[in-house]
Amino acid sequence: MTPAAFIHARRKALGMNAFELADAAEITTRRLRAIEDGNRPDHHEAERISAAIGDVFDVLADLLDGRTNIRLCSNCGCHEDAPCCINGHAHPCGWAGPTLCTHCADSSHAIMAFDPEAQRYFTHAAVL
Ligand SMILES: [Zn+2]
Ligand SMILES: [Zn+2]
Repeated sequence: MTPAAFIHARRKALGMNAFELADAAEITTRRLRAIEDGNRPDHHEAERISAAIGDVFDVLADLLDGRTNIRLCSNCGCHEDAPCCINGHAHPCGWAGPTLCTHCADSSHAIMAFDPEAQRYFTHAAVL
């Protein structure tokens, strides 16, 4: 997963729109969109964005360092050190598949994500 895809997935999983995350991270919405399009955030931006999407600086820093093979949920961007107990989930998630967490496996989005064709559509749709 790229840093841009990770930030985008976490933002969506948290139910935040671009304006809300930009506001929380104290950057402009235009800058956030550029970062989600693949522009590299500087260190301070990465810190503030990470704090706003669930305190995931270690994961984001690894992705920015090029370690893109970290095991993350392809749907919500959660990680073993940052499982999704967000959105009212009472318990942290586990792994339902190689790149899918148990919470997302329960959702209709994730069922689509099992299908490579649907995954491509879903990924594309999510970016729009
Ligand atoms: Zn997930
Ligand atoms: Zn999860």
